[in-house]
Amino acid sequence: MAQTDYYAVLGVRPTAPNDEITLAWRRLVLASHPDKARSAPAQTDIRLVNEARAVLSDPARRADFDAQRTAAPPSGPRIREHVSLEAFTAHPSAEEPEHFTLECRCGQSYDVTVDELEAGVDVVGCPGCGEYIGIDYEVVEE
Ligand SMILES: [Zn+2]
Repeated sequence: MAQTDYYAVLGVRPTAPNDEITLAWRRLVLASHPDKARSAPAQTDIRLVNEARAVLSDPARRADFDAQRTAAPPSGPRIREHVSLEAFTAHPSAEEPEHFTLECRCGQSYDVTVDELEAGVDVVGCPGCGEYIGIDYEVVEE
């Protein structure tokens, strides 16, 4: 899943506190103002800057974003293929965590829980052969 790095957009560290994020956002907004940006060669994508600030200044959305950022690092597992979550078999149950499975070509199953999906996990490994697949799904905003 290609994901915009909002920290890079604002030019702040991933550990930056909220006021640093607001400062970086304000600086970019001011720099992109038409009166000041006329002579600037590089135009800032203000829509992206506002989006980055909206996500990073909201603790819940920032936590979600951080989880997604770290779920599949660039140096992480090689992903064999991307599979839609719709191809998985759902196992809803009151007793155990609701989860989804998909049979691997080795005979074992990929297994991912709803909690993991909600935390932004989009890569799952097979316990049998150690291969990884990416899961494509839409997060439903509530
Ligand atoms: Zn396997």
